Amino acid sequence: VNRLDDRPECIVVGLGIMGSACLHELAKRGHAVLGLDQLSPPHPLGSSHGHSRIIRASYFEHPSYVPLVIRALELWRGIELEAQTSLFRRTGCLSIGPEDGLLCMGARRALAPHSLPFEELDAEKVLIRYPFLRLPQGHQALLEPLAGVLHPERCVQALLALARRKGASLRLNERVLRWKSLGRHFKVATERGTYLAERLLLCVGPWMKKFLPELPLACERQVMFWFEWDASRMERALEQVPALIAETNEGFFYGIPEPERGLYKVARHHGGASCEPDRLEREVKEEDLRPIAQFLDRYMPALRARPKEARVCIYTNTPDQHFIVDHLPRQENLIIISACSGHGFKFAPAIAEEAADLAEGKIKGPRQQLFSLSRFAGAA
Ligand SMILES: Cc1cc2nc3c(=O)[nH]c(=O)nc-3n(C[C@H](O)[C@H](O)[C@H](O)COP(=O)(O)OP(=O)(O)OC[C@H]3O[C@@H](n4cnc5c(N)ncnc54)[C@H](O)[C@@H]3O)c2cc1C
Repeated sequence: VNRLDDRPECIVVGLGIMGSACLHELAKRGHAVLGLDQLSPPHPLGSSHGHSRIIRASYFEHPSYVPLVIRALELWRGIELEAQTSLFRRTGCLSIGPEDGLLCMGARRALAPHSLPFEELDAEKVLIRYPFLRLPQGHQALLEPLAGVLHPERCVQALLALARRKGASLRLNERVLRWKSLGRHFKVATERGTYLAERLLLCVGPWMKKFLPELPLACERQVMFWFEWDASRMERALEQVPALIAETNEGFFYGIPEPERGLYKVARHHGGASCEPDRLEREVKEEDLRPIAQFLDRYMPALRARPKEARVCIYTNTPDQHFIVDHLPRQENLIIISACSGHGFKFAPAIAEEAADLAEGKIKGPRQQLFSLSRFAGAA
């Protein structure tokens, strides 16, 4: 089939959380937009699955993310209302680590200038308030009460449904094979047809390197584990349990309550093997569980049991762990959105605004220097 008659202004390739947010944003702004995905999102083969994602402003990674979190939360609330579905649950988030460590110091540095509320708890106070949690000596917790948890699959579904309602076209289970720049236009070839568009937004997550091998991106295998929460043994109902991130001697770990399923998710942040999305080891091994078991032994001993479920997911990392939201050099109509490094989900609707501004030519480069492609010498 030759669909050269289909002439959307913009094509969004990849409809994980970044692509579905971009599709929605462009449709909202009145653009004729087509979204293409090789699969049928939400699906469990990329980066946007697994029932829960933390959204927090205690941004130890860099304080300049804070305004973007605030904007994203506002947008998520609007999306939730419009789609009439529940996407966000306020849980609070504990940052746990050495008092002078990267996590607690960074969280404090991010929250304080924005007058965002937080509470510092020593190990004793933590034990009184969260009897299931043990902190090592010299460690503290910083509670950000306004933080919470997003439901990733529902977020993707809601954004795609709203985008469709606003006039976006979707073609699912249709893989993009290649594109060609014709100056003002791109000719995009898929397994089933050819499309012509003025602007291309590339949101292919872990598959980005297949198209643009020169980008400084590396995929990392991550494993999420779910444990049954027995409220009496844990001495707290799951509804009253905050999300947490912990800086330990063995690296970073996080925990997320999922009361709808009666499960608590635990995973290690980074520390995974490098991988490729099409040749990923999706089977979960005993050795994947070992660091998690060790973490639970020390921090949440009452939760230690065989996991109820486990699933593999992929991080797409840049060398400095910040995102790429930029156009390719000398190609202003080709926008790259690689917002992962294990912490991109929460920002999706705010990043989509930035990407749409780039696509419309309202800005010549990303507002956040942190997201520019030019920061990587010799890239692209
Ligand atoms: C285990 C885990 C935990 C995380 N925890 C958090 C968290 O707590 N908080 C947070 O903010 N972030 C978190 N993140 C990061 C966040 O989930 C990612 O930043 C985000 O999901 C990236 O989405 P994406 O749309 O870029 O990629 P994806 O969701 O992988 O989407 C890419 C899409 O492109 C499609 N595609 C690929 N190639 C083609 C092609 N040739 N043609 C058509 N379509 C194609 C794929 O099918 C896929 O649907 C976590 C990530 C993981 C893996």
